[in-house]
Amino acid sequence: MAGKPKGARGSSLLRVLTKREAATAEPPPSDRMPCPGLWKTPVIRWDGELMACCADVDNEISIGNLRNARFDELWFGEAMTELRLLHIEGRFEEIPKCWSCGGINFYKLEPGEVRQYLDEVGRSDLYPVYAKRMGLSAT
Ligand code: SF4
Repeated sequence: MAGKPKGARGSSLLRVLTKREAATAEPPPSDRMPCPGLWKTPVIRWDGELMACCADVDNEISIGNLRNARFDELWFGEAMTELRLLHIEGRFEEIPKCWSCGGINFYKLEPGEVRQYLDEVGRSDLYPVYAKRMGLSAT
């Protein structure tokens, strides 16, 4: 029998806590990077639900359904923008699913990508907040 597949619950690549673990877990470190899944790997469930990531098969983070909206309307829409900005600011505690998850760490979201995204959504004012918590130069 093969071992646990990469990315499965409890692997070092994607760590999603059980509800009991999450209730007693320490807050994530202040320099935790925004989860790259929110920018790079949308997941579409069998029933058309667009999910923020592969860790959210229960659809706790509701983005919308592709039966009712186009992909670009959802992926670049208000809910996803809000989620991404919360991650950039490090406000993980406001998203229970993400707070209890170690985030995806087998690919990255680089600082340049964060800066470009903030420029695109008109929130360049948040770059210094992100830079400070990640220990980067704000310029
Ligand atoms: S932090 Fe976890 S739950 Fe949140 S978007 Fe990333 S993989 Fe999904």
